[in-house]
Formats: sequence, structure tokens, C-alpha cells
Amino acid sequence: MASSILVLGAGMVGTCTALHLQERGMDVTLVDRREPGQETSFGNAGLIQREAVEPYAFPRDVGTLMNALWGRGAQVHWHARGLWQMAGALRRYFNHSHPQAHAQVTEAYSRLIAHATHEHEYWMTASGAQALVKRAGFRFVFRTPQALDEGLQRAMRLNDRFGVRYQAESTQQLTQAEPALRTPLAGAVHWLDPWAVSDPGALVQRYADLFVARGGRLLTGDAASLRSQGAGWSVQTSAGRVEAQQAVLALGPWADGTIRTLGYRFPLFIKRGYHQHYRSPVQLRQPVLDAECGYVLAPMQRGLRLTTGAEFAPINAPATPVQLVKAEALARELLDLGDALPEPPWLGARPCTADMLPVMGPAPRHKGLWFNFGHAHQGFTLGPVAGRLLAEMVHGRRTWIDPAPYAPSRFL
Ligand SMILES: Cc1cc2nc3c(=O)[nH]c(=O)nc-3n(C[C@H](O)[C@H](O)[C@H](O)COP(=O)(O)OP(=O)(O)OC[C@H]3O[C@@H](n4cnc5c(N)ncnc54)[C@H](O)[C@@H]3O)c2cc1C
Repeated sequence: MASSILVLGAGMVGTCTALHLQERGMDVTLVDRREPGQETSFGNAGLIQREAVEPYAFPRDVGTLMNALWGRGAQVHWHARGLWQMAGALRRYFNHSHPQAHAQVTEAYSRLIAHATHEHEYWMTASGAQALVKRAGFRFVFRTPQALDEGLQRAMRLNDRFGVRYQAESTQQLTQAEPALRTPLAGAVHWLDPWAVSDPGALVQRYADLFVARGGRLLTGDAASLRSQGAGWSVQTSAGRVEAQQAVLALGPWADGTIRTLGYRFPLFIKRGYHQHYRSPVQLRQPVLDAECGYVLAPMQRGLRLTTGAEFAPINAPATPVQLVKAEALARELLDLGDALPEPPWLGARPCTADMLPVMGPAPRHKGLWFNFGHAHQGFTLGPVAGRLLAEMVHGRRTWIDPAPYAPSRFL
């Protein structure tokens, strides 16, 4: 009989984990309190970020820190209660962001990112989701020559070290490539390898449909009802209590709450982010990061999606879309944004760890329990890679990437 496993959380990470476990012959039940891909994996910028070989570091220069502290600019916003709650994890995040430590973390992170597009390709083909993706890259646009210069130096460094491809664009080349941009910008770094998905939630749904079409069970249930039962695990679902030999927690930004009930205190925190769609009368050809202002504009099926930077606030605190207001004003300088769609801003939370590496591997103190969360700014990118690595560990075979840097036990 096939060995059985529960996967709790049907975001990009959990859904891909379920697919990979199923492909390895396991009897998999995927459980979520909502439909697949309706939370963080729904509202992101839809980028499969092959260029993001460096995880997002805590800024260490005084100017950026002061701007964040005083709420200047659109990049960062905070609630005092959020900073207070996350203070311990943020302090460790600051330390891990020291250039030497960050370089080490980048080695481990880049090994995951290197496989991101290839691993998505596999599931996009299998699920017939090719029409949702455009493979034409992602632009970082710069307003000032000094920032462009720094951006180009970084691109050169990442190209040398990790082979990430890019094209430098002058003001004129950028205007030709993206005629919708009306402000004369200093230029751009056009990353050539990333892909753009026009409906991120729909991509997760396609992957989940494939899982069900291949015989997987998708049920509604609450991870709070997870219990260790005999030699295995069980969870309460719409189809009653379901038991399995093993379980995976893939709860994205909600993982912390669940693992705390199991006795784990990991340095996890969240960076909230917003999006809003606009009926822009002009067309952006590729997604754009306004690099000095910290927001992304991504063409989506619903309209032009503007996504914001980091908000440090408790996960359930009321929405305070201050950054959205600021970013919208900045975006209107770049192009004719048009009217916002008449819908409230979407709010989600990036699931972050203090050392910027995801948590993937066996739960240190619970037999048959596995963790797969903490993919921060690139969980949509990394879902299939994370799913494969976790499934290979569960299967007990040699993994194709060394899982040691991501082991949950590093936080004990
Ligand atoms: C504004 C913004 C822009 C972003 N842009 C990008 C981008 O362009 N590219 C990129 O790669 N990443 C991006 N990210 C990050 C990315 O969206 C996340 O890293 C990723 O979606 C995390 O996936 P996940 O499956 O771990 O979490 P989720 O997608 O949040 O899935 C977790 C699932 O767990 C379920 N769940 C939670 N609690 C329970 C419970 N008690 N019982 C049952 N189910 C439960 C939820 O319903 C949810 O479906 C962005 C994030 C934000 C906020």
C-alpha cells in the first residue's frame, strides 16, 4: 500500500509539495481552509524571479534606515506593535544581513533559485498552464544616473558570479522597449531570465487541478486540528478526520502560529504587502520595478497590478495601505496609470526567516512531520523547487540539492 501523507496549506509551496509527493507514489491529501492559491500566492507580483539569487537583505545604510524609521518614501511602513512583536527576529535578520553573512546565505539561496524556471516549466507543461506565462524578463528602471550605475554594477557582479543574464538599457533604449513609460528615466537593467505570470492564483489552481486529476485528495480543513495520532497524524476536514502516516506544514505566513503550538520558537516574521489593479490605457510589455522607489508594476489579466514593499505589522492588524497611496503617486509619474479598479486593496504577508533561508526538512522533535515554509519574497518562484526538495527528503532518496542549509534544526 502507498504510504500516506497530509499536506497542510495549498499555496504555491504546499500545492507543489503535494504534486511532487504524489509523483513519487504517495497517497497525498492536500488540506486548506480556503481554495488553493487564494492567499499570498494569489496577490503577489507574479514573477518567477530567476534573477533573485540574492535574498532580500535588511538595509544597513543609515540613510535608508532613517527613511524607513520616519516613514519617508514608499518602501517601508511599520506598526509599532509589529516592530515590537518581531523585534527579536528582526535583530537577527539585521545581523545575517552583514555583507559577509549575506554572501554565505546567497550561496545557499542561489542554488534554489537556479532551478526555479526549469521546475515551473515541468508543471506548467503538465497542467496546460503555458498561456499564463510570458518569458520576456523583468526590468529594474532607475530614475537617477547614480542609482543606474549601482544597479549595473550589481547586475555585472551577479552575471559574473551566478550567470544571471541581463541587458543594460540607456534612456533611449528603454523608451523604445517600453513606450508606455513617459518620464525620462536614467535607464534600466533588463533581467532576461525571469518569467511573468498574468494570474498567479490561477497558476496555483491549475497545479492543484492537476493534483486532483491525478487522483490526489483536496479537502477543506483547519491546520489547528492537526494531532499526532498513533504512529501518524490526523486533521479534521470537510470529509471527517483524515489520518496519514506523515504530514507537511506548508502554511506560508501562518506557519509560525501552528509550530508554536507544537513547541517551536523559530525567528520567523512577516513583511506585509498590498496590491491594487488599474485600468491603464497604456500597455507595459514587461513588469517593472521602480528601483529607487520600491514598488512593482506588473501587467495582469485583471489590469496593471501595483505591488508594494514591506510593511512590518501583525498579520491580523487592520490594513493601512499608506505605501499603496505613495506608490500610486510615484507610478503616475512613470506612466498613465488610469483609474484603480473599484475593489479594496489586496493585503498579503511574505513569510520570512531571520537568516533569509526557507525552512525545509523534518520537524526536529516530531516524527513524521515536515516543514516547508519561509520562502519570503520568492515563494511563488520557489514553490516547485521547494516541493521537489521536500518530497525527495520524505522519500528518503538522495536529494538533488543539499538540504542542509534549510534544515529546521538550525533554529533549535
Ligand atoms: C506584495 C507581494 C508581492 C510578491 N511578489 C512575489 C513575486 O513576484 N514572486 C515571488 O516569487 N514571490 C512574491 N511574493 C512572495 C510570495 O507571494 C510568497 O512567498 C508565497 O506566495 C508563499 O507561498 P506559500 O505557499 O508558502 O504561502 P501561501 O500562498 O500563503 O499559502 C499558505 C496556505 O496555507 C493556508 N492556511 C493558513 N493557515 C491555515 C490553517 N490554519 N488551516 C488550513 N490552511 C491554512 C492558507 O489558506 C494558504 O492557502 C510576493 C509577496 C507579496 C506580499
